[in-house]
Amino acid sequence: MEIKANEISALIKEQIKKYHNKVEMVDTGLVMSVGDGVAVVYGLKNAMLSELVCFSNGTLGMILSLDENSVGVVIFGDDSQIKEDDEVTRLKKIVEIPVGNGFLGRVINPLGEPIDGLGPIVSHKSRPIERIAPGVITRKSVDTPLQTGIKAIDSIIPIGRGQRELIIGDRQTGKTAIALDTIINQKNKNVKCVYVAIGQKASTVAQVVEKLRVHGALDYTTIVSATASEMAPMQYIAPYAGVTLAEEWMENGEDVLIVYDDLSKHAVAYRTLSLLLRRSPGREAYPGDVFYLHSRLLERAAKLSKEYGGGSITALPIIETQAGDISAYIPTNVISITDGQIFLQADLFASGQRPAIDTGLSVSRVGSAAQIKAIKQVSGTIKIELANYRELQAFAQFGSDLDKTTKDTLDHGAKVYELLKQKQYDLMDVYDQVLQLFTAKYRFIKKVKLEKIIEYENELLNFMHTNHQDIIDNIKQNKQILPEIEEKLKDIIGKFTDDFVGE
Ligand code: ATP
Ligand code: MG
Repeated sequence: MEIKANEISALIKEQIKKYHNKVEMVDTGLVMSVGDGVAVVYGLKNAMLSELVCFSNGTLGMILSLDENSVGVVIFGDDSQIKEDDEVTRLKKIVEIPVGNGFLGRVINPLGEPIDGLGPIVSHKSRPIERIAPGVITRKSVDTPLQTGIKAIDSIIPIGRGQRELIIGDRQTGKTAIALDTIINQKNKNVKCVYVAIGQKASTVAQVVEKLRVHGALDYTTIVSATASEMAPMQYIAPYAGVTLAEEWMENGEDVLIVYDDLSKHAVAYRTLSLLLRRSPGREAYPGDVFYLHSRLLERAAKLSKEYGGGSITALPIIETQAGDISAYIPTNVISITDGQIFLQADLFASGQRPAIDTGLSVSRVGSAAQIKAIKQVSGTIKIELANYRELQAFAQFGSDLDKTTKDTLDHGAKVYELLKQKQYDLMDVYDQVLQLFTAKYRFIKKVKLEKIIEYENELLNFMHTNHQDIIDNIKQNKQILPEIEEKLKDIIGKFTDDFVGE
């Protein structure tokens, strides 16, 4: 079959006409291709990054990439209802979610819709999920502790309100446990909590909700959930939605704790979206702006100054490592963004040291400024003692005849590690921690056998609370151990220790 030249030119002219029509489309566009939760849209000339768009069937989407002739849109909802050539309209605003106290005790999806079957949430205000973080002028340095109730953290890796502390470790090393314990420990401490679950199994999230409820922590907590079965776009916006809720409270002068569990899966969701939108892959196939993904999120954690209400957002992002490799791409990124990390080790976890915190690789760069003086007084040397212990441990495997100082260091280190063991949900008041650490600082534990340490420490607390509550009250009042109290304590604990070991 032959096609005449004039027919061809007519066809081409027609195409060119249509082409011009399409280029004119500034606020609307047409779907060119769709699938896997993303759509490539032609037109939308004036579209902006992160802008909300609406498909002709009412489904919402967000613009994630701007190309020369098209834009990439991630779809919040069912993409199977969207077809090629469907119209797309700009809404000229950023994704917003409702905020407020109505969200406490609720489980929501990243769009702010309840998914716990407890009915609608009343809210009178919405906020965009992307926002520029508070600037330097509005901030203040960290000065109030955020008690986790976990001895190893509150003593040597203390966290302050407004700080960003990373929890990092392999799978099943107790990362979520630390975050949950910290949330539970905020009971009656005037801290609101947000737990963002990204890419986890729905059953795991259900367990988290149940645990929080059982421990009475749900009343002051909101759970934002984008489970693994959810499309990547939902997982991608989940942490931003969570921090948006938190920001509303912070700006009202309140303290908020937010947990992102976990940002590794968040990065993977973002990588999926980026690859689907054909953005060029970089290291480990992540797009070039993956650092910005997490930095703009974590930058929104802050301690505001008095003039701005004095509220705070403390962020505990979680990162999962592979075989303890903290020098992989995403871990190093997030380590460099945060103010310190709690590194959990699979070996320690397996050997029964729980929480499995590697005290050598864990740091808190700002938290000690917020620590109560009493705990500083008793924990100042612990980190070094433990470092010495680990160093000598390697030698100890060979030598049978070690000198006395080495033996002492080894013995003391092992006992301090024993003292720092703590079960999940078994949280401890900071002043009780002070008493227990006091026995380590003044080496009372030297007389106690290693396997008796836990029993000894528990009995000590019982004993102190029944017989010497006045001393505990005194320390609480002054937030430090005054010299005369210190002498008294040495006396009392000395006698108690002798009684305990049966001398
Ligand atoms: P995942 O990588 O699957 O998210 P994870 O690192 O978050 O795991 P968790 O789920 O917190 O780890 O903990 C793993 C298991 O260890 C859980 O069964 C938890 O109850 C237990 N566990 C965590 N911390 C402690 C602890 N301090 N004492 C006793 N058991 C603990
Ligand atoms: Mg977990």
